[in-house]
Formats: sequence, structure tokens, C-alpha cells
Amino acid sequence: MRCRRIVVVHGTVQGVGFRPFVYRTAVALGLKGAVWNESGGVVIDVEGDPSAVQAFLRELGDGAPAVARVESIEQSESELAGHQTFAILESRPGATQHARVSPDLAACPACLAEMNDPADRRNRYPFINCTDCGPRYSIVSELPYDRPRTTMANFAMCRPCAAEYVEPSHRRYHAQPIACSDCGPRLTAVGLDSGDDPVGSAVRALRRGAIVALKGLGGFHLACDATDEAAVATLRRRKERWDKPFAVMFPSLSALEHAAVVDDSERASLTSRRAPIVLLKRRPEAGLAPSVAPGLDELGAMLPYTPLHHRLLSEFSGPLVMTSGNRSEEPIAWDNQLALGALGPIADAFLLHDRDIVAPLDDSVVRRFLGRERVLRRARGYVPETLPLGVTGPDVFAAGADLKNVFCLARDGTAVLSQHLGDLEGLEVQRSFERVRDHLRRLFDVRPRAVAHDLHPDYHSARLALDLGLPAVAVQHHHAHIASCLVENGRDERVIGVAWDGAGFGPDGTVWGGEFLLADLDGFERAGRLRPVPMAGGDLAAREPWRLALAHAVEAGLPWPGARSPKTEAVEAMIRKRVLTTPTSSAGRLFDAVASLAGLRDACSYEGQAAMELEAATLELDLPPYPFPVIDGTLLELDARPLIAAVLADARRDAGPGVIGWRFHAALAAAIEQACRLLRARSGLGTVALSGGCFHNVRLAAQTVARLECAGFEVLLQASVPSGDGGIALGQAAIATRRLARGAVGRGPVL
Ligand code: ZN
Ligand code: ZN
Ligand code: FE
Repeated sequence: MRCRRIVVVHGTVQGVGFRPFVYRTAVALGLKGAVWNESGGVVIDVEGDPSAVQAFLRELGDGAPAVARVESIEQSESELAGHQTFAILESRPGATQHARVSPDLAACPACLAEMNDPADRRNRYPFINCTDCGPRYSIVSELPYDRPRTTMANFAMCRPCAAEYVEPSHRRYHAQPIACSDCGPRLTAVGLDSGDDPVGSAVRALRRGAIVALKGLGGFHLACDATDEAAVATLRRRKERWDKPFAVMFPSLSALEHAAVVDDSERASLTSRRAPIVLLKRRPEAGLAPSVAPGLDELGAMLPYTPLHHRLLSEFSGPLVMTSGNRSEEPIAWDNQLALGALGPIADAFLLHDRDIVAPLDDSVVRRFLGRERVLRRARGYVPETLPLGVTGPDVFAAGADLKNVFCLARDGTAVLSQHLGDLEGLEVQRSFERVRDHLRRLFDVRPRAVAHDLHPDYHSARLALDLGLPAVAVQHHHAHIASCLVENGRDERVIGVAWDGAGFGPDGTVWGGEFLLADLDGFERAGRLRPVPMAGGDLAAREPWRLALAHAVEAGLPWPGARSPKTEAVEAMIRKRVLTTPTSSAGRLFDAVASLAGLRDACSYEGQAAMELEAATLELDLPPYPFPVIDGTLLELDARPLIAAVLADARRDAGPGVIGWRFHAALAAAIEQACRLLRARSGLGTVALSGGCFHNVRLAAQTVARLECAGFEVLLQASVPSGDGGIALGQAAIATRRLARGAVGRGPVL
């Protein structure tokens, strides 16, 4: 007896060796039929012995290639067709609605072994790849994912490559970027000593302290010797990037473990196919140049993820700074000609290749805490993986926030987040926003019927969304943070949302950022906040923590201990008279104020610097938290005045940032717990969603979660989507989709 099934597999199943896997499995079980890529994903027509068909279906879910992501398997019975063989059919182009393009994947062990094998025909070839690894999203211009629709279309396969490409049993069967030194992409060196070994020349230049711009998977890196202080300081000066930490790439896991403390889960992130930058505790004896990550006890570390990196790092045999190849405020450079211009003033030499990049991608950044990998910057290796949106409705484009911009496209209950694009203040970043938006819209066939944007009237992202001329939904910043957390956790009920970050526009025209919301996807009620203080200087306030320290001291009725100047006198007068100031309830700015009072820093060269240094300086102690009372009322208020008074007292007796940081973090967690208890008593809600950039702070997140769980709350945190502004587009998309589904667009902002 025989039976026949038509099986449709949804998910990331194209370009990840799924059809060869199906072929091998079917042949091994003696089954007949065919497999092909189609609109719905991969379709399999299979017939044979019923028990073998059952085994085949089980294997589809359990044995799929590691890089595939099976979201669902549908099957239906069909009349016997009398297939005689099992065949892999050509992709059927056309509808591509549910096909997913895979993120770019780090070089696999099998390819690296071949690259290092002198007898292999791809020995030392820096663009070796297979169905398990290599470029994907960064080179795809359209779906279905086939070579002519990638930037590999320019390279005609040589005979041996073509033979591998069509052989179903070969591990490069239909590996679209398949290549070798005879037919594939090549390296070229600019500004390096001539010769036929560009990698060797680059290594010699790096040893001499040069800065080399290196074209990678998703764009250019600027590389230099991470142990050479002069080289790293030169890179900082030329890039005009004064303090923001540089990522470091190590030649091997063991070399990395000499420089940083790595636990099993961090090792898993480092060595995963996504190969992100992982923030790790730096060892004091790391031997890195001081300018790599000044003021921080952490190090952004990663391992080589392209064959070219592997060659470069193993020949250099030491750690290299690998920072995104861009000028300050510009997107990562991805095109050879543009990079030669943009990075010319920074780099001493270039290592280029001729495989074009369609989608520029920065490296992703993750931190492991509370048992999960938490994505802080989501780009290469993660994008364009889709996420369930949890709500269905018409297609939506959500523009995200202005800082750390990421946008979101949603359709049929599925969301795709763009890669991290940067600060939309820069004109080039705005252009890149539009280009990536159009690319992803085509790739995922999303036809937005409405846009969602931040409530902020001056946001570039809002303008870029409104320019599309579609019905618009304005979403409050912190509501979007909480909605993002709900969506990521697959939740849809009303929760206590704690949204703490640097700044977001409030509907009352003030700057919010230490918010307690009772929220779901339909709307929110502001239930609590930090007691506002007057912020002088607008955007300058985020760069000059002393302004907030001064404001908090004035509010607490205590003298500000900082050095006085005509400028500080003027600011103090503005604060006292509340002229040219904006009230802010921002938690991020409270971090800045305390960091300044603790003597850490009064001027920042990047947003969040003071807060990060306070977190880094904090010691593990057994001291009572600072007093941080929660004043009960219609709107709860966390009153920082007693806290500031205690910080000032500790600062006077030179307690140091280690002590101040400890008591401060503990006070925040205790106040959040107390506020949530009051809100639970009032609302009956027992679930707390934590979001906003402050919850990238491990110490704050860990203490808050511990206290809330102890108090019987269920706590939701973000992990695969950033808590920071890189995550809010997901929340905006869900809120707008819900509103569209309810037919309520055009009735003003969602409040
Ligand atoms: Zn491979
Ligand atoms: Zn070839
Ligand atoms: Fe935010």
C-alpha cells in the first residue's frame, strides 16, 4: 500500500539547504515525488509506504538544517501520482508572499576546513561558502532567492562550481553564492604594497599601525591593531569618535578568553551562525589599548565570521579593532566607490572586493543576562528574520524612532524589522532609511495601507512616514516600548508597563522617560512617573550631565557641588525661574545627574555614556538603597529629592561611584517594586512589562526582576528585540495594525 501527501513548509526555508535536505531524507526512505520553492515556502509532493511517509514528516521538523527555521508544516492527502523518482524542481517564481530570506551566516566549519586544506581547490579562497553559510540578505535583490536575483549574478560559474551547484548530493547544491578563485569575487588592495597577496599586505600594514578599511559582509569595517594605542587613538581622532567603545575581533575563542570572561551561554552567542558582537566583562590583563573602550569594564568582542576575516586574523594573529566603516553620523559604507571617498580621510589603505552589497548591515550587538541573549543592536545575522506580530490587519509601515532608527513592515500577522540604521539626524542615514525601506518592502511584498510614527512633531522618522501620503497613526513613544515588549512575548492583555529611557515625547508636551503605564495594544493610561525636573538646554542636556545634576540639586533645595562659571549661573537661573526649560520625567537623565554627582563625568561624547560608566563603576555591596519614595496619588510620583540629598551626602564624604552606583541602582529597583505594588492594588494587574533603553542595564534589569518576582509579579522583558529605541517600531506596528483592524484610523493619536 502507498500514500501521497502534499506538504507545505513555511519559515526560513529558502537559501538554507532545505531542498537538498528534503531530497536526501526522501531518497533515504525510498520515497518518490518532488520538492520545489514556491510562494508558500517549500512544497513537497511525496509518495510511498505510509510508515516511511510518517517518518519523513517527523524528520522534516526534527532534522532540518541548523540554519533553517521551520514555522509550520501543512499537509494534505492526495491521489497517487505514480512518481518513479524523487526530484528537486526549479523554483517557481511569481508570488513570494510567505517566503523568507535568511540572514547572513558566519562561515561554517566545513568551508573553513576546505579553505585551510592545501589540497582543496578553494584553498585560501576568501569567499568560500555553501548552503550552510555565507551571504544571504546582504546580497539578495529580489525573491525567490536564486543566483540571478543576487549580486552574484555578475559572476559566471566555472565548470567545477556549476557541477557542484546542480548535484543534489553535494553540500553546495544550489548554494547561490557558490564561487571559487577561478570564477568568483576577488580581493583588491588600494594603498597597500603591490603583490598577489592582498591579505598579506594588509596584515603587514596593520602590524605597522595602519588603519585599513575592509569590505566585509554587510559593509566596511575600519580595522587596526587593538593592542597599539597609537593606532587606536589615531582611528578615534580621524573618525571623530571620542569615547564610544570600539568592537574587537579576536583570532580565536581562546585568544578572546584571554581578554574577557566568557561563560557557556556567551560562548554560544559568540560561536553561533549569527556571530554578533557580545558585550563581555573585560579582564584587567586583557592587553588591549586603553582607547579601545575607555571608562567601561566591558568589551564588545566578536569572532571572525567571513572567510576573509579568518584569513586576516589568523595571519595577523592578534586582536583587531573592527568598527563600522562610517564617518561620524553617517551609515556604514557598503559601496566601493563611495567608501573610497567617505573613508579616504580615515583609512591608510583599503581591502576591497567585487561582490556588491544590496543591504548594508552593521554588526549586531548582544549582551547575555537573566538567562537569555538580549539583542541591543539588531542587524547582521538577525535581520530579516520575521517575528509574529500577534495581531492581523492591513499591511503597515512603522517608522520607529529617530535615534538608533529601525523601522518595521507588517503584514498578515508577521513583522519584519529593518537592520539598525542609525541616527536619522544625518541626511545620509535618511537616504539609507528610504532605500532599505523600499528594498524590504519589495522583498517581503508588503503594501502598506497605513503608517505608524512617533508622536514627536519634529521627528525625521515621522516626516519620512507621513511623506508616503497614507493614513497615519501617531503612537506615543513609551506606549510603543511597552507594546514592543508585549508583542515579543506573545501577549495582548493589559499590563503594568514600566518604560524607562532617555527621552520620548509626551502628549503633554514635556519630555517623558520614567513612565508607569497601564497599557495594552489598544491604548494606555499614564499611571506614574518620576517627579519632573526642569531640563535646560534641550538636546544639550543629554550631552552635559551637569545640567541635570544642577536641576536635581536645585529641586532638592541643596547646593550644587559643581564648579561654577557664568554658564552654570545662567543655567541655574533658568532652572530656578523655569524659563527656557522643559520639564522631564526621564530616568536616563536621572542616571546622568547621579553619574555627574558621583564625579564620573560632566560631558558626554555619546548618548548614555554617563549612565554606562555609572553602571560599570558600580560595586557589588551590601548597603541600603537610597531613599526613593513613591508618592501615592492619581498619578504616582517617584520623588528623587531624598535620593539626590543622600547622593550629595555620599559624594561629600567621598564614598565614590562604586558605592553611589550600588545604592542608586538598588533604590531604582526598590521604587519600581513599590510603584508596581501600588498599581497592582489599584488595577488588579499582576504582569509587569519592562522596556526602554534603561533595561539594557544589567544591574537595573536583574535587581528589578528579582524584586518584582519576589513580590509575585510575572515579569516580561525583551530579548530578540532591543528594549531601546531600536525596538519601538515593532510596538508601533502592532498598535497601528490593531487600530486599523478596528477601523479607527484618523481619530488622532492612540492614547
Ligand atoms: Zn559553509
Ligand atoms: Zn568556480
Ligand atoms: Fe525610548
